[in-house]
Amino acid sequence: MTGIRNIVILTGAGVSAESGIDTFRDGGGLWEQHRVEDVTTPEAFVRDPDLVQRFYDMRRAAIQTREPNAAHHALARLDAEWPKEDGRGLLIVTQNVDDLHERAGANRVLHMHGEHLKAWCTACDRRSPWRGPLLDRPPCPACGAAALRPDVVWFGEMPYRMDEIHEALREADLFVSIGTSGAVYPAAGFVRTARDLGARTLELNLEPSQGSRWFHEARHGPATELVPAWVKEVLAAR
Ligand code: NAD
Repeated sequence: MTGIRNIVILTGAGVSAESGIDTFRDGGGLWEQHRVEDVTTPEAFVRDPDLVQRFYDMRRAAIQTREPNAAHHALARLDAEWPKEDGRGLLIVTQNVDDLHERAGANRVLHMHGEHLKAWCTACDRRSPWRGPLLDRPPCPACGAAALRPDVVWFGEMPYRMDEIHEALREADLFVSIGTSGAVYPAAGFVRTARDLGARTLELNLEPSQGSRWFHEARHGPATELVPAWVKEVLAAR
């Protein structure tokens, strides 16, 4: 572990699974008879906006009843204790739209797929903090238009903050992927980018992901066990 200064950690739905938030694949890809892909695309929103709003209203309400688990807490501890150098040193890039990393106390978190607790106004383009439902078309707090949608990145849309992520991957000495299936691009390609640019790569996942073979090392088991043990190791070796 010596010689490591810059760490990029990619998290996915698996890191929140033990907090009681279903991963997409856990439910067999189905939500109330609908394929997940049918409620997570811009086309689905055009076709049946009420269905999509109801799906996100339900998930937004659910995450507010869940608590961070030992994996979120361990990553928050690493974030607090790992040195910051010119704003660099460590970055948690999450595909998750829940707020459990932040509630555990992590600060250096970038939500590449957006956040459940924000609404995006398609009329004025502002993002507003949002905790309640959107189904009844409430007015945008900024412009008053009834044009709010969940501020989440749907399949086929461009993930957020890719330039910052690529810059961090370029400088990474260590890339760690936690609780992600390796099925959703572009996040699934980060391991190869980081590795090609010289980073050591580690997977922590319940089972081998689709991209397992790209990692120098893979450890398999529940995030609440693997992540605290790994964080302890990294901090001890520093
Ligand atoms: P995914 O559902 O495709 O895969 C989850 C991965 O986590 C699987 O490989 C599974 O083996 C692993 N896993 C399950 N339980 C685990 C545990 N206890 N410990 C460690 N690993 C565990 O999720 P993804 O790769 O993140 O991609 C799906 C997309 O769906 C992402 O865009 C994500 O943002 C979104 N999503 C987010 C949430 C959330 O915010 N919590 C929940 C579901 C889906």
